[in-house]
Amino acid sequence: MKLNSHYLDLKDSYLFSTVARKVREFQAANPGKKVYKLSIGDVTLPLAKAVIDAMHLAVEDMAKKETFKGYGPELGYDFLREEIKKYYSRRNVELDIDEIIVSDGAKSDLGNLLDIMDADNKVLIPDPVYPAYVDCNIMAGRKIDTCSGNEQNGFKPMPNENYKSDIIYICSPNNPTGAVYTKDELKAWVDYANKNNALILFDAAYEAFIVDKALPRSIFEIEGARTCAIEICSFSKTAGFTGTRCGYSIVPKQLVFGGISANALWNRRQSTKFNGTPYIIQKAAAAVFSEEGEKQIQANLQYYRDNAKIIKEAFEKKGVYHVGGDNSPYIWFKVPNNMTSWEFFDKLLLEKNVVGTPGSGFGENGEGFFRLTAFGDRDDTIEAVKRIVELL
Ligand code: PLP
Repeated sequence: MKLNSHYLDLKDSYLFSTVARKVREFQAANPGKKVYKLSIGDVTLPLAKAVIDAMHLAVEDMAKKETFKGYGPELGYDFLREEIKKYYSRRNVELDIDEIIVSDGAKSDLGNLLDIMDADNKVLIPDPVYPAYVDCNIMAGRKIDTCSGNEQNGFKPMPNENYKSDIIYICSPNNPTGAVYTKDELKAWVDYANKNNALILFDAAYEAFIVDKALPRSIFEIEGARTCAIEICSFSKTAGFTGTRCGYSIVPKQLVFGGISANALWNRRQSTKFNGTPYIIQKAAAAVFSEEGEKQIQANLQYYRDNAKIIKEAFEKKGVYHVGGDNSPYIWFKVPNNMTSWEFFDKLLLEKNVVGTPGSGFGENGEGFFRLTAFGDRDDTIEAVKRIVELL
């Protein structure tokens, strides 16, 4: 018997635990002092009324013999998949319902999709990045190359013929930087992937934050993507489902490698290892697309967008290098005076009682940068920004 020793190659993730410990220690030393948190990557507004109403009705369905639901279809109920199909169609992306596979969230899909990929595939992951991409591949023992996000490329790494990778991760709008690829930039990645027989895993978890109509919210808005990309999306940030759990992946039927259909494999994988997202949750998710649901969700998103605008404008006024905030809930900025990310974290907490997330926690290229999020309370955001600016 051998356990998977690749797990021993994982680095301990100290980022959020260290942030939490430092805040705890500060509060113990300064009882009663308010700490302003712009570090949280989780939503804070409650679910929309239309979502809650749908959930209540679904609970009632479960209470009656005639409407009770047991196991559902592993790949998702058609009532939800049809709504997702229409959601894409409104953006001129035409999907077949069989290409939409519902899950309990993007994080599960990002990890589980690797089940259908050969262990020998080489992986290309941007740095800085959402840490789960790296860890999932380390667990599988894959070789990882990184492509650098930096000030020169606006934290949007572009393809390079020196890369020899089979699986490419792209997250746009990006966590942690908030950078968003343009259509031309994504087209360059799609062309690169098609030419090099590579697969793009496109994480669209923050697509709902995009307001600029010229920016792509789905990789399938790009010509050629159906033969080289899987899109992973989620209701978490779109509709506040972080604790409710629902997401989906789009696996096109034209996605074929070595004569094998990725859609068929993912269908088989999910049917074998997953018994479906709960009926009540899928009903709640479908309500996101109702007229009322959409209006209420947009109101919540606007609250976060306005927070982002407040943060972004402060950096603009100060002339501090930053990205994100226009079409994303994250603002990523360069810390002053060549401080490290953690030095700035400590200074901000001790002197101004504000918490953010050190960029170095998202990869080597994040050193010297800092992430703020727009998911907080409005008044706290305004006060925190005022305090941060005093340190710049
Ligand atoms: N992808 C990115 C880039 C994220 O930042 C997150 C969560 O913060 C997720 C995926 C996970 O989403 P979900 O809640 O659907 O698992």
